Amino acid sequence: MVLVTGGAGYIGSHTCIALDEAGFDFVVFDNLCNSSQESLKRVEKIINKKIKFIEGDIRSKEDMQKVFTTYKIDSVIHFAGLKAVGESVELPLKYYDNNINGTLVLLDVMKEYKCKKIVFSSSATVYGDPHTTPIKEDFPLSCTNPYGRTKLFIEEILRDVYRADNDFKIVLLRYFNPVGAHESGTIGEDPNGKPNNLMPFIAQTAVGKREFLSVFGDDYDTVDGTGVRDYIHVVDLAQGHVNSLQKIAALDSVLTVNLGTGNGYSVLEMVSAFEKASGKKVAYKIAPRREGDIAACFADPSYAKEVLQWQATKELNEMCEDSWRWQSNNPNGYSS
Ligand code: NAD
Ligand code: UDP
Repeated sequence: MVLVTGGAGYIGSHTCIALDEAGFDFVVFDNLCNSSQESLKRVEKIINKKIKFIEGDIRSKEDMQKVFTTYKIDSVIHFAGLKAVGESVELPLKYYDNNINGTLVLLDVMKEYKCKKIVFSSSATVYGDPHTTPIKEDFPLSCTNPYGRTKLFIEEILRDVYRADNDFKIVLLRYFNPVGAHESGTIGEDPNGKPNNLMPFIAQTAVGKREFLSVFGDDYDTVDGTGVRDYIHVVDLAQGHVNSLQKIAALDSVLTVNLGTGNGYSVLEMVSAFEKASGKKVAYKIAPRREGDIAACFADPSYAKEVLQWQATKELNEMCEDSWRWQSNNPNGYSS
């Protein structure tokens, strides 16, 4: 049985579908602080199966023990965490407590129940401002905000856990920029309030919820001056977790892998791709650079192909079409 912490969230809910398709039995554990059970109800419709769900907090030892006593957990995919960069700057302790303390409690209970396989949601943010692109896994690590630091610290913690006990099997997946939605248009990203990330902001502008997109800076050293990122379809990303689980038992060291496409697109390229996919105009205004932003970030995904036999399959138009289907069918997300 696979435990999926944070499985009601954006990436977790898509991963539930990929797990089911690959024949894995799983249980979702989530405190619903940034999601609702509606996502899981919709996943149930897609997979035509009831999902095992326990509501609880990863920081609570009792909650975690309940999962491990109720089910025989063989491995964990650990999505649960807070992810808003801006909020992490305002409320660092909240982020250190939730993400780091939560992971410590999870690892402690895993040890207690002799469960030693974990796939962790890390992020390309651990590369800080990379000296060059594309980014390889052995590039130097650094971070510029408390959210990023929680990812880097948890990576370090997991490396220490492995050093102390080589029976642990650990995969660190460094996601680039997840976008898109399941092709059904019934599940997708449902940010709280005003989106921080580009794609949901574009989608909400196209659907008429936002007046215009602020493009943060047009004077970077990039193709058109706007920031370049490696956008990856969430369904491809979900599959990366399945491949990780299929390989994890054979690992003899901590496996660290970039999950990206290897292609970088600028903000303005994203706007025009979305306009094409949606048939809607996306109004935008050039605004000052956002503090802490970097010019360009995209992956060298060759190691993922080599070790996980994984590569992204979905192109930018599919990312935009699927985001638009979700956004236009559900203008107010799961509360639509
Ligand atoms: P999300 O907010 O949609 O999902 C996270 C889930 O974790 C939510 O359902 C939330 O309710 C749950 N959660 C948070 N704290 C919890 C706690 N203490 N106990 C139990 N459940 C808790 O986010 P997502 O986009 O699906 O991201 C999943 C993971 O991937 C996160 O760890 C995030 O940091 C990481 N990640 C996300 C991105 C991205 O751009 N979406 C990029 C890189 C890494
Ligand atoms: N961006 C933007 N306007 C927005 C949100 C983001 O111009 O409202 C830009 C941002 O400066 C970056 C890119 O879009 O160049 C992706 O930003 P996002 O926050 O989605 O991802 P991250 O910067 O964390 O990679």
